Amino acid sequence: MLPSCEPYKIKMIEPLYRSSREEREIWIREARYNIFNLKSDQVFIDFLTDSGTGAMSDRQWAAIMSGDESYAGSRSFHGLKDTVKELTGFEYLLPTHQGRAAENVLFSVLVKEGQLVPGNAHFDTTKGHIEFRKAIAVDCTIDEAYDTSKPHPFKGNVNINKLDELMKSSADNVSFILITATCNTAGGQPVSMENIRQARKLADKYGKLLIIDAARFAENAYFIKTREEGYQTKSIRSIVLEMFSLFDGATMSAKKDGIVNIGGFIALKDKKIYQEASTFNIMFEGFLTYGGQAGRDMAALAQGLKEATEFDYLESRVSQVAYLGEKMKGYGVPVQEPFGGHAIFIDALKFFPQIPREEFPGQTLVVELYKAGGIRCAEIGSLMADRDPITRENRYPALELVRLAIPRRAYTNNHMDYAAAAVGQAFESAQKILRGYRLTSEAPIMRHFTMELEPVGN
Ligand SMILES: *Cc1c(COP(=O)(O)O)cnc(C)c1O
Repeated sequence: MLPSCEPYKIKMIEPLYRSSREEREIWIREARYNIFNLKSDQVFIDFLTDSGTGAMSDRQWAAIMSGDESYAGSRSFHGLKDTVKELTGFEYLLPTHQGRAAENVLFSVLVKEGQLVPGNAHFDTTKGHIEFRKAIAVDCTIDEAYDTSKPHPFKGNVNINKLDELMKSSADNVSFILITATCNTAGGQPVSMENIRQARKLADKYGKLLIIDAARFAENAYFIKTREEGYQTKSIRSIVLEMFSLFDGATMSAKKDGIVNIGGFIALKDKKIYQEASTFNIMFEGFLTYGGQAGRDMAALAQGLKEATEFDYLESRVSQVAYLGEKMKGYGVPVQEPFGGHAIFIDALKFFPQIPREEFPGQTLVVELYKAGGIRCAEIGSLMADRDPITRENRYPALELVRLAIPRRAYTNNHMDYAAAAVGQAFESAQKILRGYRLTSEAPIMRHFTMELEPVGN
């Protein structure tokens, strides 16, 4: 069999500046050791996020030119609505400017103070929007997700027993059940169709809504096709349709599997929830047929959703991520396995076992990778986990991960070779780093975006 490769070629390029280690050491100090403060020109390979960083196709750019900018009822809105209906089966669509805006609008309807929102590990903005309403996001991910070396094909799965126990004791207080697919926080790990089906049964048993955080629904469908019994011969589109048929609604960050630079939406089965959410959409986002997007944005998104659900694209996408993972493994770097769909996660507690958790080994690794190769990546650990909203103590999640998220269609495998070599170099000298960082400034919520840090011990 021939290897998978990109089902597209390059039409336009964007030059990158190759900085020196000396330059980067100055820049990261000036950025107060927070990579969100770096200028993108100070970054050589940007693995900060796969969100809004993908390359659009010529067809998406063509769609941009034919966007309809009418305030109400635009052709581009109806085109997007039709595409979403075709892919998900959902009748009702509310465009939003991005994923967290979809959360804000939908949770304004669904989440009340003191309620619980159980699911697999919630994404940070999702958790933020739940906690902002003084509700609680309850993590019911399977235990296997927290052992980075344990093989399991669907590490994003919900622990159905745990969810059932929670329902038995507190169903009255549960707002709805949320499944994030793939599960970003647990390492871009997929959720199986069988698991979604079981969660659906519980939702029905207790009369609750089951909502999908659908940011990477297409990558999830690819894993179902390639890993789950009985799906090998099914098309991605039919798997996508089956997945969504088990849910009552979706929030979507189109910056992921919509392959656009900005955008999002809410899609719903139920007219009543749609109507209630519509009021909030008009207040927070914009009128119902644009919700914070230009007509051309919606046109590009409709095309992007079609491209993101093509098998050949998904295969080259997920294979490129795995290619980086294998290369890093070759250098002995402790990475989460199996590899996620959009990113490779390094286990920072294994990379820097000598650095105490209070000194943020994950962030220490982020800084070292930047210095080593101008690679920007993200801490998914104690800094992102933030403080407990009640006790204000630091939360230490089970895993301290560093995420190298791969933008869609933007980098070649030569970039992956370079990045893996830089990570390998940092790993070789890891024992020399004895201390981490301390916070000198932090915001009360979602602190990792704006925090400032300084090295401990000098
Ligand atoms: C990115 C993301 C969001 C938030 O979407 P934005 O477009 O960044 O606002 C929510 N959930 C998941 C799983 C995500 O990856």
